Formats: sequence, structure tokens, C-alpha cells
Amino acid sequence: MRKFDNIAHDRLRHIDAMYYDIRNRFVAFAAIAIFLAFMPAARATDIVPGVEPAVVGNARVEVMFTPEQDATARIAAAIAGARRQVLMQAYSFTHDGIARALLEAHARGVDVRLIADREQTEKMARGQVPGLARAGLPVWLDGEHQGAHNKVMVVDAGTASALVVTGSFNFTRAAQHKNAENIVFISGNEGLVRAYVRNWQNHIRHAKPLTIH
Ligand SMILES: [Zn+2]
Repeated sequence: MRKFDNIAHDRLRHIDAMYYDIRNRFVAFAAIAIFLAFMPAARATDIVPGVEPAVVGNARVEVMFTPEQDATARIAAAIAGARRQVLMQAYSFTHDGIARALLEAHARGVDVRLIADREQTEKMARGQVPGLARAGLPVWLDGEHQGAHNKVMVVDAGTASALVVTGSFNFTRAAQHKNAENIVFISGNEGLVRAYVRNWQNHIRHAKPLTIH
């Protein structure tokens, strides 16, 4: 009986050792799998030239979807809240209310500047861009792309309240009422603001001023 106990004990020890071996191998395998899973994400920003990792920890991001939410009112409020500057890139721009908000900001001394797609501006009968230029707003037309398709506002770059607004939403009534669109409002992220300002500056280099008297 004693001998049997010893054999049983040895077997148990052997099973124990096997169990620990398997467990250790599993832990090592899991650690490598986790490492590999996160590696590509960590390296993505390193291997694409010019891509800056944007710190989003302190950013405040609001998202709106149309037609169910009033993105136009939020855009107008962002323009009304501008203290120094509004840099804008527009593709289609037919919304009179947004145009009015820009002119009001311009009238109270905010540095409002607009880059608009050349083809859209020239072909849209009810476009707001020529009227904005006529009213004295600094406007440039970008004809260097198949579409200058950005829909962007950068409000008060370089200040604590800097805001980036972008999404699929064109500055049109159709975007608000007829289409399915999204738009995000991002504040509290200096790196992102710098990236959008730099992009705005890249387009202004080849865009042509639109002056209408
Ligand atoms: Zn351009």
C-alpha cells in the first residue's frame, strides 16, 4: 500500500509538472500574440511619412449626424464664437446661413479666409462663394485637384479654444436636410490643429485669389 501511495504521488507530481509546463508555454504564447497584435498599430505612424500621431487624451470631440441633428446651428455657433480667425476649406457651399455667419465674423474683425473648390464655385448657380468674395471676404479658388473636397473649419488656431470642424458635411442645405452626413467638432488638440492649418497653407500656395468687384 505504501509503495502504491508513492507511485500515485510520483504520478501526481508528474502531472503537476506537465500542467505547469503547458501553462507557462501558454502564457508565453499569449504574451507574444498580444505583442504582435499591437505592433502594427504602434508602427503605422512611423512608416507613413508625414503622419503625426495626434494625442487625443485631452481632446473634446463632439459628433453630429444629419439629417436628424442640427449641424448647421453648431457650425454657425462655432463661427459666432471665433475670436481671432476662421480658416475654411469648402467643396460645395450654398448655405446662406453659414455664409451670413462668416460675414458677421468678418465684420467684427475676425480673420476669416476661405479656400473653395474652383469647379464647384464656377458651376453652382446658387453658390455662396462669389457673394462672399464680393462682400470683401478673402476667398481663394483651388483648381489643382479633381475635387478640392475638404470640408474643414479651423477656428482660433494657436489659442486654448482652438477648434477643428470636419466631416462629410458640405456647407449646404442638402447636407443638413436631404443627405446622410457626419461632422465632428474637435477641441483641445494642438497637434491636430497644427496639421489642419498646415494643410490649409499647402492649398493656399496653389489656389488663386477670387476678387469680384
Ligand atoms: Zn489644393
